[in-house]
Amino acid sequence: MPYKDKEELRRHKKDWDMTYYQKKRKLIDEAFGKECHVCHKSENKVICIHKKDGQPHKKLKQMNLADIRYLIENNKDEYVALCALCHTSVHWCMVRLGLRWDLVEVYWS
Ligand SMILES: [Zn+2]
Repeated sequence: MPYKDKEELRRHKKDWDMTYYQKKRKLIDEAFGKECHVCHKSENKVICIHKKDGQPHKKLKQMNLADIRYLIENNKDEYVALCALCHTSVHWCMVRLGLRWDLVEVYWS
């Protein structure tokens, strides 16, 4: 173990986690853009990806780089970039109003 000091190990792990997250974020941003598909805003927005069928899926935090590459290469058309606020609103419309993504997209985009 390269770190005998637990605090130094903790800092190293935190740096590694941030670097890994940034690599994942970069892949998502390059594939889906940094703009919300619904409100078209990007400034001060954390963009997440929404599965158009509304079914649960792994969040960015839960995915590793291989998961993300696979998603982009094989299922990209099933997802869209949304800001957190629009993502919550879209799910509300899908669950509470029973709207499919294509109808949500027509009314909101
Ligand atoms: Zn939005």
